[in-house]
Amino acid sequence: MSNIPDLEFRNGNTIPQVGYGVFKIPPEETREAVLEAFRAGYRHIDTAALYDNEEGVGAALAESGLDRSDVFVTTKLADSFMGRTNALEQFEVSLEKLGTDYVDLYLIHWPVPGQDLFVETWEALLEIRESGKATNVGVSNFQVHHLERLRQETAELPVINQIELHPWLVQQELRDYHREHGIVTEAWSPLAKGGEQLENPVVKEIAAGHGRTPAQVLLRWHLQLGNVIIPKSVTPSRMRENLELFDFELSSAEMERLSALDEGLRTGPDPDVRGA
Ligand code: NDP
Repeated sequence: MSNIPDLEFRNGNTIPQVGYGVFKIPPEETREAVLEAFRAGYRHIDTAALYDNEEGVGAALAESGLDRSDVFVTTKLADSFMGRTNALEQFEVSLEKLGTDYVDLYLIHWPVPGQDLFVETWEALLEIRESGKATNVGVSNFQVHHLERLRQETAELPVINQIELHPWLVQQELRDYHREHGIVTEAWSPLAKGGEQLENPVVKEIAAGHGRTPAQVLLRWHLQLGNVIIPKSVTPSRMRENLELFDFELSSAEMERLSALDEGLRTGPDPDVRGA
């Protein structure tokens, strides 16, 4: 049914390149939104303990009739629970809420530099992976210097880092580091939250040239860079639009024009500041 390609982690496991993000979907609406996403063809769901909607994701998983092995599920450890003991406990809480006995990917949501517990927490995630209850483990919102700490102080680097990324925040240095160390780049807010950026004249001009929407052009830019993307929409037509990305291609000149929109715009917190 779906033509979404898989990307391979350096451990040989795979992740569908397009997923469905559920940040800010109210708990009581999450079950129906995720069921609609499954109907649209998504087989990869991105949630987090902080989103307070893991139960809704779990309810949709159970009701969908899909084999558990056909859906890739990511959740994340909330920043108020850094440290080994908390991580081991909160992982079990997430599994319980999701109603599943494993997740495909478990992430540290933010480095929370003020607590300086992300190295210990990362080692706990490696333990969780060894238990078999998380097929893959990774991080989110880590900067190069956080990843360097993991590289120097622990046995291995994450297979993925989920970061804010769109043409207004291209994250070149971090993406170069990822490439050098075999870390997959996952883009959160891939549409820059769907705000005024969708009206940008460069994006609109490129979209018109392909007979596509601005959102599709932005998502296609990510795919051609090799990013995993997790656009969020509660609007069924947009859920489908955000998957119709595989029958057109941006030229290298168009890719460069989009990347040149970079202005260091963060729509979310700076990872060095949040929890500092
Ligand atoms: P996105 O960039 O995905 O934008 C979502 C917004 O864009 C919504 O308001 C949506 O509206 C709108 N939209 C979606 N598709 C279209 C379209 N085709 N045309 C026009 N508007 C559209 O932002 P998010 O912040 O939600 O990020 C996506 C996911 O990334 C999150 O759901 C979450 O899973 C993850 N994330 C992770 C973070 C982290 O710290 N690790 C932080 C933030 C997000 P509507 O729903 O009304 O259709």
